[in-house]
Amino acid sequence: MRILVQKFGGTSVADLTCMRQVQAKVEKALADGYKVVCVLSAMAGETNRLLTLAREWSSRPDPSEQDVLIATGEQVSVALFTMLLRDAGWKARSVLGFQMPMHTDNDYGKARIMNIDSDRLKQMLDEHEVLVAAGFQGCDECQRITTLGRGGSDTSAVALAAALEAERCEIYTDVEGVYTTDPNLCSRARKLDRVAYDEMLEMASMGAKVLQIRSVEFAKKYNVPVLVRSTFSDASGTLVTKEDPSMEEVKVSGIAYDKDQARVTLREVPDRPGVAAAIFGPLADAGILVDMIIQNVSEQGRTDMTFTVSRSDLDRALEILESVAKEIEAKDLIHDLGVCKVSVIGVGMRNHSGVAGTAFRALTAENINIMMISTSEIKISCVIEEKYLELAVRTLHDAFELDKQPAEN
Ligand code: ADP
Ligand code: ASP
Ligand code: MG
Repeated sequence: MRILVQKFGGTSVADLTCMRQVQAKVEKALADGYKVVCVLSAMAGETNRLLTLAREWSSRPDPSEQDVLIATGEQVSVALFTMLLRDAGWKARSVLGFQMPMHTDNDYGKARIMNIDSDRLKQMLDEHEVLVAAGFQGCDECQRITTLGRGGSDTSAVALAAALEAERCEIYTDVEGVYTTDPNLCSRARKLDRVAYDEMLEMASMGAKVLQIRSVEFAKKYNVPVLVRSTFSDASGTLVTKEDPSMEEVKVSGIAYDKDQARVTLREVPDRPGVAAAIFGPLADAGILVDMIIQNVSEQGRTDMTFTVSRSDLDRALEILESVAKEIEAKDLIHDLGVCKVSVIGVGMRNHSGVAGTAFRALTAENINIMMISTSEIKISCVIEEKYLELAVRTLHDAFELDKQPAEN
């Protein structure tokens, strides 16, 4: 059985006209001889609408009930689209997370997939031409509905492709593939034909929302070729795949940005062993991810500790840090929401020096102050003031001449 997984995002299923385009893509795959697992997101804006509703009704929405609520967006999409397919004469059925079943842990709102019953799905595929699967949702061991975090339908699709040993996973969206940076922010962004799993992992974790990070982790782990392409054109898209030596010839392949950043500083912290653990231990216990950390040079036995967290975690982080600050006798706790992170990414950085220097010079030429820096072997990230975000992305894109084909790069 040749299986293709095709995932369509929110803008691709926004209304009947868009759904007709989705139908055309599915019918093309059927004509090519595939059985199709079509994974759908909620209609554009629906998940946000449901989250707003939850916050209007409750000051602290119960996480598992919130998952029951927001999973309905995908249920609507799969039911409506299956009706279209059945009207057109195809053997199709909708499949919700608990019917697959897609088992997850019980970390509501950002659950992780534990396993998928591929035998059951294959049996359903024997009896149907198309399975229209709800993205974003699963169920835990108590049969409660869970969701996989924002953008989680990408992960549902890649996980299903891995479980069913599909030929590939096609991710259909509102742009023609993965670009050198967000094409909606920088008109000179260039579409990439191929991108390595590791590069895509960095891009996704540094803020490029075109693929959810966990979907790329799955793709890499199970070697699933992922093709990102547009629902609204026939362009060839971008293949996310294993790295090959030619990819390393390109120094930099993309610029990512992340607005979901808040900077926190504990001022005049005593500089003694155990203090970092006293600060970051309770944050980790509360499931709060800390990104960049800077500890200033100590003066008279005291130092400033600055780090970044996601904006949605800021209130909880401050609540925890208030008491930590008292306990360790820090002088002050301050925070800043007007920051963002820009990152330069490329597997070629492993073999080429000078990337950091070029990036810093380019930002300096525009008078953009770099507040924090972090690096890995294939990435350089800088925290800057949010008001310079677009300028910084375009400046870095120009500095590495990313609008030009790699041979000229
Ligand atoms: P969907 O609803 O189809 O899942 P998303 O909105 O989650 O779509 O992701 C697609 C969006 O990702 C694009 O519209 C684009 O603005 C954004 N994006 C950010 N960085 C990139 C990039 N490097 N390449 C392509 N798109 C990007
Ligand atoms: N509907 C969910 C979201 O908006 C999942 C997805 O679209 O991938 O985040
Ligand atoms: Mg998405």
